[in-house]
Amino acid sequence: MTSNVRVRFAPAPTGLLHIGNARTALFNHLFARKEGGAFILRIEDTDVERSTEASIEAILRDLRWLGILWEEGPDGVGQNGPYRQSERLPLYREYAENLFGEGKVYKCFCSPERLESLRKEQLARGMMPKYDGKCRSLSQREISEMESEGLRPVLRFRVDRGMVVFEDLIHGRMSFDSDGLGDFIIVRSDGMAAYNFACVIDDHSMRITHVIRGDDHLSNTPRQILVYRALGWQPPVFAHHPLILGPDRSPLSKRHGATAVSQYREEGFLPEALLNYLVLLGWTSPSGEEILTPEEIVKAFSLTALSRNAPIHSRKKLEWLNSHYIRKTDNGRLVRLLLSYFEKAGIPVKQMDQEYLAQICGLLKENLSILSQVEEYLGIFFDALFSFSEEAKAVLISPENREALQTILNVLEGFSEMEGDSGSPLLVRFEGRTGRKGKSLYALLRAGITGKMKGPELVKILPLLGKDRMINRLKMALELS
Ligand code: GLU
Repeated sequence: MTSNVRVRFAPAPTGLLHIGNARTALFNHLFARKEGGAFILRIEDTDVERSTEASIEAILRDLRWLGILWEEGPDGVGQNGPYRQSERLPLYREYAENLFGEGKVYKCFCSPERLESLRKEQLARGMMPKYDGKCRSLSQREISEMESEGLRPVLRFRVDRGMVVFEDLIHGRMSFDSDGLGDFIIVRSDGMAAYNFACVIDDHSMRITHVIRGDDHLSNTPRQILVYRALGWQPPVFAHHPLILGPDRSPLSKRHGATAVSQYREEGFLPEALLNYLVLLGWTSPSGEEILTPEEIVKAFSLTALSRNAPIHSRKKLEWLNSHYIRKTDNGRLVRLLLSYFEKAGIPVKQMDQEYLAQICGLLKENLSILSQVEEYLGIFFDALFSFSEEAKAVLISPENREALQTILNVLEGFSEMEGDSGSPLLVRFEGRTGRKGKSLYALLRAGITGKMKGPELVKILPLLGKDRMINRLKMALELS
């Protein structure tokens, strides 16, 4: 099914892709999938000083990693480009000149200093700052004079009195008194189009039908609607979604921990987990089900079901989803992902028995809510990283455990090499000879054999370690003081 629905994600490439922006991209992507429409990626790089190629690359990489793929975008796909605003300047200039010719925009020569003192003065009087219209009715002579002095004007949009009303798919009817807007800039003095102008021209020429973006743009929308009107164009449908808040209910920022998609990837979150998590921030599936495949999400998704209340970021929930997806991941992929953390910890994985590595990964899978947590457990399996934790030492040196520890060592020394992949015959012997059961045996064994107080199931660890390595560790444990 194809429809004429066309949506876009339009990031400014001034940094890494934030999870808030990724969520906006996701909502657009899901809506396009659901409606059989097209999802367009447009790079809003008119802020030349802050935009970088590296950010563009990182944004594309992170969207691809999440599986948020576009039909048209700056990587050479699509017929409605270019998809970078810095390559669309002649188009903006043309429309700005037309509007100027029609008297709908005017040249303003006010200095940044004047604007700043105007702002301060208005604030001091308890007013919302806005341009006071000083240059609204300059004569042609005044304009020529200032231009001949080398002054370079900005172009301001002439905002007439009236109401701007639109139906927002999430918030319902929104109305703004244009008096509060002030004559806003559409072209800066360096000739660069301002966001509110470039955005309208691009959305129109790219035939965007629905603009889905964060609430932080709500105040831009009436301005953009005025530009649509001035150009004689029909505005798209708007849907503004609330932004993600931190647990303290302030806008999610670095203070609350990781915010960039790439940080989550590096920490060891799976893309399907992050995607599932992001869609749940502000959307509930009709069935109430929380764990959903991308196909299920597309099927159940609806823009109008997005909540008007701001969602609160919960790292705990994200980790819960991630541990679910880690357990569901097939072993081949899991091993590939985990081995990069092994390598980072200095383990020469290429020279090792691949089967052994795969067994370790399969075992650790149950204990991880984030892939990078494997680092805590590597010492269990690799002697070069083995050490006793402080907690384990406390258990091992405790006088009431010494005898049982010696007994365990004796049992092992008399035990023929383990067969099969179960440690249970050995555990039964430990129980029999020490007379201990449950926690009082298992905590001691875990401390002595793995050096840690937590980790994967002991019964599965024992055969992977083998008799000699366990004996060595128990001897080391008995030497602790
Ligand atoms: N470049 C704007 C931003 O990153 C896009 C806003 C919009 O979607 O219109 O916030």
